[in-house]
Amino acid sequence: MRSYSKSIEAFKEAVDLLPGGVNSPVRAFKSVKMDPIFMERGKGSKIYDVDGNEYIDYVLSWGPLILGHAHETVVEALKKVVEGGTSFGAPTEIENKLAKLVIERVPSIEMVRMVNSGTEATMSALRLARGYTGRDKILKFEGNYHGHGDSLLIKAGSGVATLGLPDSPGVPESIAKNTITVPYNDMESVEYAFQEFGDDIAAVIVEPVSGNMGVVPPVNSFLQKLRDITEKNGTLLIFDEVMTGFRVGYHSAQGHFDVTPDLTCLGKVIGGGLPVGAYGGKREIMENIAPAGPIYQAGTLSGNPLAMTAGFETLNALTETTYVELNKKVDRLVEGLGAAATEHNIPHTINRAGSMVGIFFTNEDVVNFESAKSADLDIFAQYYRSMAEEGIFLPPSQFEGLFLSTAHTDEDIEKTIEAARKTFANITKK
Ligand code: PMP
Repeated sequence: MRSYSKSIEAFKEAVDLLPGGVNSPVRAFKSVKMDPIFMERGKGSKIYDVDGNEYIDYVLSWGPLILGHAHETVVEALKKVVEGGTSFGAPTEIENKLAKLVIERVPSIEMVRMVNSGTEATMSALRLARGYTGRDKILKFEGNYHGHGDSLLIKAGSGVATLGLPDSPGVPESIAKNTITVPYNDMESVEYAFQEFGDDIAAVIVEPVSGNMGVVPPVNSFLQKLRDITEKNGTLLIFDEVMTGFRVGYHSAQGHFDVTPDLTCLGKVIGGGLPVGAYGGKREIMENIAPAGPIYQAGTLSGNPLAMTAGFETLNALTETTYVELNKKVDRLVEGLGAAATEHNIPHTINRAGSMVGIFFTNEDVVNFESAKSADLDIFAQYYRSMAEEGIFLPPSQFEGLFLSTAHTDEDIEKTIEAARKTFANITKK
């Protein structure tokens, strides 16, 4: 058995200092019924906890580390920048360099504004959509998570789904009433909402592949249909690509599915492990943002040189071939996990988009939050704890996907499949 004694000690101290002992809720490992593991360092595909245990890491900081931990090029570039000062509150050239890469790769983006997190990106994109259209309502999907902005914390996924808190106290009714929520992948409900409120809907915001209720890809032409109905109603279509951006493909999800939204939100990979978010879109819309236009949004540390450098070096290291090679590793992992679960009669459905993978312990097809909730959370908790014991670090929730990086080796994948085989052999079904 692995020892977690230092983690347990650190958590005891933390619960007195931080609400729930953590700075972000899913890190508390509540749904897998164990104390959180405190991490110390990472290199490549491996992460090491404070007790010296080594894990193959499939959390990757919840997605950003597509090159793995402490990638040499990123680290060397950061060292150079840090010695020259960490923030200037004035424009720097590295902001242009990262903006150019983003504009080149993401089809919908002609202009981009850098912010500090995914939450800021979606909040700002919503303000822009409302200011631009002069409308107040937005439409979002159940189980999609777009950060913790007031308008978006309604029937949300991720930590709020994990903890069973989909509507947070503190969100005023006056704001919540402007958010319409409908099931993911359900065009009929979207059409109904447009019949009722069409002229008032400023924006439809959607995760083009949902990654916050586990991984749920869009069903056939769902995204294209959203494009059509928003265009028809003068509503902006916002793709929240905070998770999918530069993750599911070189041109992000919009390139992969060939559907171009009006606005796109980015985060995670675009910061290469440092705090970055961004939103961008058509020039005509983006030029309404201050100081080019009247819609206000600002940030003391926005465009920070360290964050821009990590993002630039990360994107710069990714080529179209990177994704082909990465996807081959994911193919093998998905096939191996599926075979291991079948071998031991574990109910399962595996969803996958590029290098985002969700294993649900249910035999139902998982196409929305309702079907995701059919998964057996007790099996998940057993699976989680056993995989940790075998040295596999997974996101500690059934409602989160796992990620792979270019640093994961074939050996890592085979070890993971072997760990799953051992784990599934010992699951107790209620
Ligand atoms: N949108 C999506 C799709 C996300 O997955 C997340 C974070 N998991 C966010 C927005 C919020 O990003 P952040 O945590 O950086 O605020």
